[in-house]
Amino acid sequence: MVIEGNSVGPPTAGRDPDDRSPAPGDLRVVQALVNTLSGHTGADLIGIPADAASWLAAAGLRPAGSAVTSSEQRALVELRESIRAVLATHTHGANKPDAADRLTMALMHCRLMVSADPAGTVRLTSADQHPFARAVGAIAIAIAEASATGTWARLKSCPGNRCGWAFYDRSPGGRSQWCSMQVCGARAKMRAYRSRVRGGPDSG
Ligand SMILES: [Zn+2]
Repeated sequence: MVIEGNSVGPPTAGRDPDDRSPAPGDLRVVQALVNTLSGHTGADLIGIPADAASWLAAAGLRPAGSAVTSSEQRALVELRESIRAVLATHTHGANKPDAADRLTMALMHCRLMVSADPAGTVRLTSADQHPFARAVGAIAIAIAEASATGTWARLKSCPGNRCGWAFYDRSPGGRSQWCSMQVCGARAKMRAYRSRVRGGPDSG
């Protein structure tokens, strides 16, 4: 799908903060899917079926020109939001069975199989013919492979007010909380400061 270091990735509804480079390998496509919605501007690249078809084609997940039904578009939005919910658990290190179940349900639109090739490689592949199911399968495979290589836990969603942006945490300890310290991190600090001032002994 997408080669690491490729400067032209799947379209997103906003820009990554300057100090954040995209997730490695095909996990970048998963990240881009989550970032088809900008919490700050409300821009949504998959909000209607025609847009969802364009995005899937641009991401290399679907043959160009093939249509997306409204139920497939809704399923894609649900897949996006279920991934975002799991990425939030990565940010907080929280154990949320509901988020995990929701993602499992959203990925049920695809069937995967394990295939071996003559070079001795064994990998997950899509067992579907239907274009939408194959697209979901590609996302499922990217998540499964990222989980196996340890990169999945570093894909996080920002808890900033009206944010939710997916970012890849390359910090040594893997403890980044915000998409950007300058934007969401600074806003959260300011909110915490204001509430301390309001609740302080001199505030009345
Ligand atoms: Zn943010």
